[in-house]
Amino acid sequence: PTMAHSQALLVLENFIGGKFVPCSSYVDSYNPSTGDVYCRVPDSGKEEVEAAVKAAKDAFPVWSSKSPLERSQILNKLADLIEHDLEAFAQAESKDQGKTITFARTVDIPRAVHNFRFFASSILHHVTECTEMPTMGCVHYTSRAPVGVAGLISPWNLPLYLLTWKIAPAIACGNTVVAKPSEMTSVTAWMMCKLLEKAGVPPGVVNVVFGTGAKAGEALVCHPDVPLISFTGSTLTAQQITERSAPHCKRLSLELGGKNPAIIFDDADLSQCIPTTVRSSFANQGEICLCTSRIFVQRGIYREFLKRFVTEVKKWKTGNPSDPTVDVGALISKEHLEKVRNYVKKAQAEGARVLCGEGVDPLALPPGNQKGYFMLPTVIAEVKDESCCMQEEIFGPVTCVVAFDTEEEVIKRANGVKYGLAATVWSGSVGRVHRVAHRLQSGLVWTNCWLVRDLNLPFGGMKASGIGREGAKDSYEFFTEVKTITIKH
Ligand code: NAD
Repeated sequence: PTMAHSQALLVLENFIGGKFVPCSSYVDSYNPSTGDVYCRVPDSGKEEVEAAVKAAKDAFPVWSSKSPLERSQILNKLADLIEHDLEAFAQAESKDQGKTITFARTVDIPRAVHNFRFFASSILHHVTECTEMPTMGCVHYTSRAPVGVAGLISPWNLPLYLLTWKIAPAIACGNTVVAKPSEMTSVTAWMMCKLLEKAGVPPGVVNVVFGTGAKAGEALVCHPDVPLISFTGSTLTAQQITERSAPHCKRLSLELGGKNPAIIFDDADLSQCIPTTVRSSFANQGEICLCTSRIFVQRGIYREFLKRFVTEVKKWKTGNPSDPTVDVGALISKEHLEKVRNYVKKAQAEGARVLCGEGVDPLALPPGNQKGYFMLPTVIAEVKDESCCMQEEIFGPVTCVVAFDTEEEVIKRANGVKYGLAATVWSGSVGRVHRVAHRLQSGLVWTNCWLVRDLNLPFGGMKASGIGREGAKDSYEFFTEVKTITIKH
């Protein structure tokens, strides 16, 4: 990487107690589409986390005693301010992450705005429980209260989208937060901090500490005054967080990786299924936890599916993310690109066939993007179920297609991985989609569609894909402490 443009480097600062504060050391952040260092991110550690937790603790009594309506109005104001700057946020997200400007404009930033509006509204509509015991002369009811300082840790694939999916419910419920975005994609969180005061968020309610997982993340996880951690990221990191937080008995919400199957029966409507499955495999460079990476196709339509699927995949344009006609941008880092490419090499070494993409088709990039971390969408066929490409999360633009014969067989094979996040089922038979959906080990099952979400309903994974669920009621329950009160009259 060149540091030739050092004057132009963007330098981020932590946001603690309502103020931007510089840090004593920084880590480099790359523009994935050029390979240049363009931003410096605070390399925070214990000291910075300590200051942020203190600010959050100090702000808690006042914030937690505001009415839900007051908090709701502030969240709505923040949503309006982000929406007002939508284009600037989208440009920044695309540059920082490598995703296409189109995806940032239509998915990431609108969803970040919606996260605040959604929880601003849903917080107004919860009811608690009440039961009566007439023979004992008692009524019981539950009350819910915010927990305290919430630690929020988010990944690099959908930076502002996933961070706000945690900040919004946490503060709507009356908690104060210390958030740590991924060190690779910190810019939009920093931009959001600039809007907090104007939105009316009191100092200390939202603190953002930038830095690496090993230093800043771990300091947050180990801090005794942070009773809950909401984490989205890899299964491996979740194991470390679980171990490190165990001595403090923290409440954890873990949203982790996936190895999501698409099951396509021979009565599926291929005109719907094929474009959606191309999208579910390659949207955001395949860097979405919900992306399809194992496609099971019933044998009768296998050949036809492969031919039509590969034809559609080849139409996806890979290149400069700021070009609005581009479908596939850059991967997050050089290391990640190498990792994803290695999976393709391993599959080939095992005798699988690469039908398009990596190593098969030429990748032509504009002059300014020659050092970017690009890779063509890649389809692999004839992969064994035991292959690492069918078992491990690749998290890049690679999908495997295999044939199956019976419903019973495909359910078993689809469930034959350690993950259980999302699945799609394609069939014209109502009976079959219900039957199969019930038997899949998966927190989410989409039939004849993908990524259609109602934020009211639970989101999360089974098995190694996570613990806990997020959604209107689920996030409310996670971010509040419940109490059962009994009154004898
Ligand atoms: P990651 O686990 O490497 O990092 C996630 C976050 O955790 C980052 O902020 C990182 O700095 C921090 N971190 C790393 N080590 C830590 C530690 N020891 N203690 C505390 N914090 C630490 O994940 P990633 O590579 O940024 O993101 C990709 C992963 O996230 C994929 O596995 C993907 O499937 C998963 N993901 C899951 C969901 C979901 O909702 N289930 C959504 C998006 C991404």
